[in-house]
Amino acid sequence: MTDCVFCRIVDGTIGAKIVCQDEHCLAFEDINPQAPVHVLVIPKRHIRSLNEFETSDTELLGRLLQTCRTVAHLKELTSAGYRVVANTGSQAGQTVFHFHFHVLGKRMFRWPPG
Ligand code: AMP
Ligand code: ZN
Repeated sequence: MTDCVFCRIVDGTIGAKIVCQDEHCLAFEDINPQAPVHVLVIPKRHIRSLNEFETSDTELLGRLLQTCRTVAHLKELTSAGYRVVANTGSQAGQTVFHFHFHVLGKRMFRWPPG
């Protein structure tokens, strides 16, 4: 999708600070970080939100979470703790409609989130 900012990061049209990637998943730094570590983990294929994952995407969902785990290791978040979030839909605060996990760390987080 050419009008999707994250698809344009995947195809290289828009630059991003890449943290790690494999054939199916890409992790890059959030442009407007909400914590000292704020990385986005996306599927390279355009999927609008969590709602649009199919049963056949179960392996991809696992890969995305494994990529979050890799980010946590690379950014040294594992001992102190970190947060993985997928805002789904506008009421939850989703603004970019290409699925992404936020991986946030290196500060204290409150619960429940606002
Ligand atoms: P959400 O509000 O959950 O949809 O999150 C979208 C996230 O994408 C926000 O945290 C934005 O700061 C981030 N974002 C938007 N455009 C870019 C970009 N070009 N590069 C990196 N992060 C971006
Ligand atoms: Zn997209």
